[in-house]
Amino acid sequence: MAGHPAVEEPSAARSAHEGILRRQSARESAARTYARALPIVPVRARGLTIEGADGRRYLDCLSGAGTLALGHNHPVVLDAIRKVLDSGAPLHVLDLATPVKDAFTTELFRTLPPGLADHARVQFCGPAGTDAVEAAFKLVRAATGRNGMLAFAGAYHGMTSGALEASGDALDVRVARLPYPQDYRCPFGVGGPHGAELAARWTQSILDDPKSGVPLPAGMILEPVQGEGGVLPAPDEWMRRMRQITADRSIPLIADEVQTGVGRTGAFWAVEHSGITPDVMVLSKAIGGSLPLAVIVYRDDLDVWEPGAHAGTFRGNQLAMAAGTATMAYVRENDLTARAATLGARMLNQLRSLAREFPVIGDVRGRGLMIGVEMVEAEGERAGEGRAGGANDADRSAGLCTDGPSNAGGASAAVTPGAVPSPRPASPELATAVQRECLRRGLIVELGGRHASVVRLLPPLTITDEQVTAVLDRLADAVAAVARSHGPGGGRHQQQHRRRGGSGGEGAG
Ligand code: PMP
Repeated sequence: MAGHPAVEEPSAARSAHEGILRRQSARESAARTYARALPIVPVRARGLTIEGADGRRYLDCLSGAGTLALGHNHPVVLDAIRKVLDSGAPLHVLDLATPVKDAFTTELFRTLPPGLADHARVQFCGPAGTDAVEAAFKLVRAATGRNGMLAFAGAYHGMTSGALEASGDALDVRVARLPYPQDYRCPFGVGGPHGAELAARWTQSILDDPKSGVPLPAGMILEPVQGEGGVLPAPDEWMRRMRQITADRSIPLIADEVQTGVGRTGAFWAVEHSGITPDVMVLSKAIGGSLPLAVIVYRDDLDVWEPGAHAGTFRGNQLAMAAGTATMAYVRENDLTARAATLGARMLNQLRSLAREFPVIGDVRGRGLMIGVEMVEAEGERAGEGRAGGANDADRSAGLCTDGPSNAGGASAAVTPGAVPSPRPASPELATAVQRECLRRGLIVELGGRHASVVRLLPPLTITDEQVTAVLDRLADAVAAVARSHGPGGGRHQQQHRRRGGSGGEGAG
């Protein structure tokens, strides 16, 4: 813990912690994920704070991969769970009606975009987000009698086979993949409104060209902000274009709000930013208030399913429904969506200042409390070898992307006048180093993005101003440490950071 006061760790606690980690790596699958990058053993948690078996405390900006809208163990969630337990209600009821489920559906429908709320149906699915994605595909295939699906480059929809087919790293003939608009690594090399317009035109031409090789699909699935894909907020105008293109061709539009839902992006559902009404919404994570729950909601005229067409044993998790009802109601009643918008804007601003200090930060982007910091190779390392074009300043200032990139430091200097600057190559190594340095400073962050080069922040919507400051201090300190150890191109003001020393320590803010 160089430069940071380590908490005195009782040796018994330390060895219990190490024993658990050792047994985990000896017994659990090689496919384990978060556990590799985050060798901690959580034993207690409250709000933003997790305490490990070794006594160390962390600020948790992973939040169960964006699940914990209210942070860990929020009192209203615990109360709701206790009430069900104390009431003697059955905990397992398949898909039978219960008062708990009735209250959940009422609260959920209350939040839906107006165009959907009046005509909505809900299907309770198996408990994971990926189960709901499968259900959505099955529903639109049944409703349209068609088979193919449109999805977007960089998408992440889950790990079951249909969801995987629609995600970025799979190949399947039933899924046609389209360009998702992004400024920093725009596939067309222009970014901004122009890049988004080209992406929309590409989609339209695929659908209208009888020789495109893409037959009329059963549906289009999109994330309003790509999360795992690197925190890419879709421009509102592009969202409206997708709505128009699909509506004109009777293609059901599926919004995957598994990660963006329940206030995270500064609107209760992220589709509200653009004002569109999707035909199907895929919901999970935060709607279960930290317990497993997944549903699809959709327009009732798509409800062509026969009884039993989509079944499953675990579709009636009463505790999750109670926790989810309490979470959604709390977010709504306390206007945490507005809070997420305000805090997110503040965090983006400060992170953009940090990016101006440290050229290893290529881009800062996000919406609400869904924030990404893309790490790139430092100046001097392979300068001028950027892979994709970045947006020029005119495009950026035109503002199609609400929270588009702002960091000129991320673009290679080797650009001819008038040409679009190319971003430097993504650096998964630096991102991993930042994640590690954050952990040393008591901050948990996730990595994502095409090249696993994006440091992701998904704090709970209940995070306080002081905690935001502590999170940003620790992150800044971690970036400074990484830039320092990566040579002279890493940071412009490393001395300043070295002197300041960040918030450090293990105590949660
Ligand atoms: N869709 C999106 C947008 C997601 O972010 C995720 C999970 N990160 C999923 C679907 C899959 O959810 P689950 O891991 O619960 O299956």
